[in-house]
Amino acid sequence: MSHPNISNQNPSTPLPSIGFNKPHFTGSEIKYIQEAISSSKIGSNGDFTQKCQQFFESKYGFKKVFLTPSCTDALEMCALLINTKEGDEIIVPSYTFVSTANAFILQGAKIVFADSESNSPNIDTATIEALITPKTKAIVCVHYAGMACDMERLMNLCTKHQLYLIEDAAQAIDSFYQGKALGSIGHLAAFSFHETKNITCGEGGMLVINDERLIPRAEIIREYGTNRSQFIRGEVAQYGWIDKGSSNMPSELLAAFLYAQLECLSEIQAKRILLWNQYEKLLKPLQDLGLIQLPEVSSSIKHNAHIFYIICQNKIQRTALINALKAENINAVFHYNALHQSTYFKDKHDGRNLPNSDKYTDCLLRLPLYYDLTLDEVQHIATIITQFLKTNTL
Ligand SMILES: *Cc1c(COP(=O)(O)O)cnc(C)c1O
Repeated sequence: MSHPNISNQNPSTPLPSIGFNKPHFTGSEIKYIQEAISSSKIGSNGDFTQKCQQFFESKYGFKKVFLTPSCTDALEMCALLINTKEGDEIIVPSYTFVSTANAFILQGAKIVFADSESNSPNIDTATIEALITPKTKAIVCVHYAGMACDMERLMNLCTKHQLYLIEDAAQAIDSFYQGKALGSIGHLAAFSFHETKNITCGEGGMLVINDERLIPRAEIIREYGTNRSQFIRGEVAQYGWIDKGSSNMPSELLAAFLYAQLECLSEIQAKRILLWNQYEKLLKPLQDLGLIQLPEVSSSIKHNAHIFYIICQNKIQRTALINALKAENINAVFHYNALHQSTYFKDKHDGRNLPNSDKYTDCLLRLPLYYDLTLDEVQHIATIITQFLKTNTL
């Protein structure tokens, strides 16, 4: 009979497990939350909310920022702000998170899914123009992995056809396109501070408005459809219900947490980029052998190391690789299931093939990447992947 405890795999030192994501705490979160509590102002729109909003406006050149409880909330505000109504068509990439499309569905829009590029999960701008009809109202682009879409082409298309451009920049804090911050280019943009994003307050987001004409109404929509903010500024004698709206304001406790993260933004980003670059360096030989593909980074962008992904040859190879990593206690995960194939949408889709969306659904794999990960751990993960792929050519 075998005795596991006296086997030569020393039981006192189990293999360290490497999770896919681990939120980073900067150390000041509790202090600032305590400050908010001491000020007795824990509702919305207090000092911490103002400080966060000003930070983003001055650092990234966003015209106007409103913190929201989530990116989903910010996207839903976008749908209201552009007056989405029954029958309007909104062009959205199929390879994205549900909220990118769902926010417009809630207002009765028809979603027209676009494919991804062959060399990146971002929306394929070459195929968009054929999807534009007189009913098209907006294009929503998603900067996957914090890597910019082709913004020049998107802006040109939107100007030519008089459409709104909305950036789902959930993953794209501190990313740039031709020197401009992502989120500063479209008419509107939405960011996320969910625990899986580079900067977090657990659940949180922000709406960015670059088209000044949309600012006054955004302030009303997020405050239940009332002009309470105008009243607080002394611009009106009393406030009341003047438009559609909701409650899209995070509490000061969340803004205080977020502010602690913002103070360490450059430190967090530097570490993530170091890890990302290390993955790229160590896995490059596997790409050269044609075993996997790595992200392609064009010289016109600066990305934020939100995700390090690889593209496997097919789903079988990806599943085998996930299992090989799992056997070493490393958690690598796939990402979206193309929305045009989803249970909710498949009957509504117009039947076009979106082969690149399907490819990323089956073949994309995300590797662990978070602030507290070490270069040694990246080395270890890359070694396991290299050993596996070199001995298991499919
Ligand atoms: C995370 C994410 C969202 C949703 O963000 P929440 O803050 O959780 O609502 C939307 N779109 C994309 C592309 C995302 O990555």
